[in-house]
Amino acid sequence: MLTRLKSPTMLISHIIRLEPERLEFAKRVEELKPEGAYHVLSRAKQLEAEGMNIIHLEIGQPDVDTFAHIAKAGQAAIAEGATRYTPPNGIAGLREAIAEDAGRRRGVHFSPEQVVIGPGAKPGLVLSVLAVIQAKDEVLYPEPGFPTYPAMIRMAGGKPVPIPLIEEDNFALDLKALKGSINARTKMIVLNSPSNPTGGVLGPETIEQILSLAVEHDLWLLSDEIYSRMVYEGVPFTSIASYPESVNRTILVDGFSKTYAMTGWRLGYAIAPSKLAERISLLNTHVFGCTAEFTQVAGVEAITGPQEEIQELRHAYQKRRNLIVAGLSQLPNVACQLPEGAFYAFPNIKSTGMTSDRLATRLLEEAGVALLPGTAFGALGEGYLRISYATSSEHLTEALERMHPILSHI
Ligand code: PLP
Repeated sequence: MLTRLKSPTMLISHIIRLEPERLEFAKRVEELKPEGAYHVLSRAKQLEAEGMNIIHLEIGQPDVDTFAHIAKAGQAAIAEGATRYTPPNGIAGLREAIAEDAGRRRGVHFSPEQVVIGPGAKPGLVLSVLAVIQAKDEVLYPEPGFPTYPAMIRMAGGKPVPIPLIEEDNFALDLKALKGSINARTKMIVLNSPSNPTGGVLGPETIEQILSLAVEHDLWLLSDEIYSRMVYEGVPFTSIASYPESVNRTILVDGFSKTYAMTGWRLGYAIAPSKLAERISLLNTHVFGCTAEFTQVAGVEAITGPQEEIQELRHAYQKRRNLIVAGLSQLPNVACQLPEGAFYAFPNIKSTGMTSDRLATRLLEEAGVALLPGTAFGALGEGYLRISYATSSEHLTEALERMHPILSHI
C-alpha cells in the first residue's frame, strides 16, 4: 500500500525513515570493505586536528615528492595541451617504453600491444580479473595480502581462496597449502613479490614450483610486481614473467606510484597476452575511458629519464629498514623478520596476548603512532602489525621510543 504524503515535513521524515531499509545493493559490493590504511589515516587526522602529535607509519607511499624531472615533464605536457582523450590502452610512446623497459628487466620480449595502461596499478589488477574470472571460479591469493585481491575476486563473482604465508620462511607462500587448494574450479593464482604487507620476496625455487603448478593445472597467473624495484642488497628479484613457460598465462602488473613517487598521478599498467590485453582495454574504455594524457607523458619521462633517484631511495629505505627492524626486535613481546623488499615491516606481536586491532588502536590513541593491524590484510594477519618505514629515521626512532612503554606494560 502506498503512503499518501500530506506535507513536506512528512515527505522528509518518510525519506529518512525508509532510506536504510529501501537501499538494496548488488552482491558484488555488499562485502566490500574500506582499505585499513585509509581508515587509520582518517582517525589519525582527527586526532591531529584535536592537537595530538602523530607519527604516520600507516600509509604506503614514498615520503619524497615526485622526482623533479618527471613533475616538470608533466607540467610541460599540460602547458602544451596534452590534456585530451587518448586511446583506452594508452599512448603508443608510453606503451613502447613500458614494453621495452619491463621486458629488458626480466630478460624477455614484450610487445607494445600487450601493454594496457591505466590510472594506477589497481585497474590493471581489477580489470584483468574481471576479464578472466566469472561466477564460481576460484582464485588463490596470498594472505596476509593487499586487500584489493579478495575484493576484486569477489567483484568478478569468483571465490577468493587465501593461501597462507610462512613467517619463519621470510613470509614465502605456503606451497603445500597452495597445492592442496587447487581443484577443478581453480582459475588463477595471484602473486605479490615483494609483498605488501610482509616485505617478503619469493625466491626462484618457490616461483618455479608455482609456475609448474600453473602449467600442470592450466591456471592464469596474476603477478603484482609493483615493488619490484625495491629489493634490498643481496636479494635477487625473480619475476614469474621471466620464464618462457609463463607466456600466454601471465598478467604482469606494475605501476609508477611506488618506484617514481607518483602515487597521486595515477599511472600503472598490465602486460598480458595480446588477445587478453584487447579485452582489458575494452574494460578500460567503458570504466574510465583513458588515463590522463599528461600523466602518461610524465610516465615516458619516468621510464626513459635518469634512474639514479630510485637507487638513492632504495639505499635510504634499506637503512630505515635496518633501523626499524633492529628497534622493533628490542621491544618487549615483539619479534620481527628482516623484510627483503618493499618498505614495510611486519612485526609479530602474538606474545602481547592482544589482538592486532587492540594494540594498533592503543598505539595510536595513547602514543600517537599510526600503524596498521595485520588484520587489515585479512584474518591471517592477526598477531601482526604493519609499519610503513617510508618516513624519516627521526620519525622511526621516535615511534620506537613511544611504543616502548605500551609494550612494556601489558
Ligand atoms: N599492489 C600493491 C601490492 C600495493 O601495495 C598497491 C598500493 O599500495 C597497489 C597495488 C596499487 O598501486 P597504485 O597506486 O598504482 O594503484
